[in-house]
Amino acid sequence: MMRHFSYSPAPARVVFGSGTRHDLAKEVESLGKHRLLLLSTAEQSAQAQEIASVLGSRVVGHFPEAAMHTPVDVTEKAMSLVNALTVDGILSVGGGSTIGLGKAIAIRTDLDQIVLPTTYAGSEMTPILGETNEGLKTTRSDQRIRPEVVIYDVDLTLDLPVAMSISSGLNAIAHAVEALYAHDGNPIISLMAVEGIRALAHGLPGVVRDQRDEESRSSALYGAWLCGMCLGSVAMGLHHKLCHTLGGTFNLPHAETHAVLLPHALAYNQSRLGDTLDGLKGAFGPDVALGLHTFSKSLGAPTTLRELGMPQSGIDQAAKLALAKPYPNPRPLEEGAIRALIGRAWAGEPPL
Ligand code: NAD
Repeated sequence: MMRHFSYSPAPARVVFGSGTRHDLAKEVESLGKHRLLLLSTAEQSAQAQEIASVLGSRVVGHFPEAAMHTPVDVTEKAMSLVNALTVDGILSVGGGSTIGLGKAIAIRTDLDQIVLPTTYAGSEMTPILGETNEGLKTTRSDQRIRPEVVIYDVDLTLDLPVAMSISSGLNAIAHAVEALYAHDGNPIISLMAVEGIRALAHGLPGVVRDQRDEESRSSALYGAWLCGMCLGSVAMGLHHKLCHTLGGTFNLPHAETHAVLLPHALAYNQSRLGDTLDGLKGAFGPDVALGLHTFSKSLGAPTTLRELGMPQSGIDQAAKLALAKPYPNPRPLEEGAIRALIGRAWAGEPPL
């Protein structure tokens, strides 16, 4: 029987394909923007400028200083440019860090954002912003944060290094896995979750074999879009809370932490999920958590928290912190079992 649910479609316009960056001028025209500020990291500065060059004088400035975890002092520096140049829109070219900066400007100004994502993190599909101020990360959600137009151009992902593609892709899969058992989930998002995971499970091995294989890249980016929709639509559980806690406390890299923890967090919940994971058995076998672990290993993803720099002495502290603020999760949070889970992830043992 269909259970009671609610579903709010995300209002963003999405353009997907190869060479779609050439549609940028048309999209900017449709939005009626004349004074865009271009955002990127320093590493992607040239790539961003090349993409934006089709817009000519409609781009009035470039701020190539986006940084991981959206530091507030960087946003403030960008805001002075927004004000000095009387900007009427934001053009973000890059991954979650650049998109985060665009979102931070949008929440302060309500300016429209046009985004060309270049990783699989999925931030472009969410109304969520995490900002850091003096080492403290706070997260908020607001519909003004969600970008208005997203142009997925597969060509922009061809040079995403293989190691980053793998961890970023597993990070995306984690969004969809947790969406399947979210307390506020719904059948539409579950369809996207299964399809997103299927597309990434198909695309990532192809990217490992050949970094510039267009069919694999296309499948992975399509999957990342759907997984981003999952993250932006329903609440995340144990896995995302653990990643947030471990990442913040031990300064672990974001996507890699997701890659290591996902099979373990899923194994913790798996016995309570009934037929929820049935749509994933084709890709990962009857024990989905174990299948995910094997899949990650076959891609060459990191499989231990130890190699990411977490000290073994931090396992007890991490388990306590994971329970500090209760949240909905299919299996109740049990400190002993969570400590054991983190311990296995630290050592790289198979999920139990
Ligand atoms: P990133 O944006 O930090 O990029 C990492 C590095 O890779 C940067 O130097 C970037 O310039 C470079 N890079 C990106 N794409 C490239 C490409 N195609 N080719 C070559 N180099 C490329 O990485 P990310 O994993 O996309 O983003 C991580 C950040 O995003 C974290 O701060 C995370 O918290 C945030 N995030 C937020 C949300 C949200 O919904 N708010 C969702 C996911 C991630």
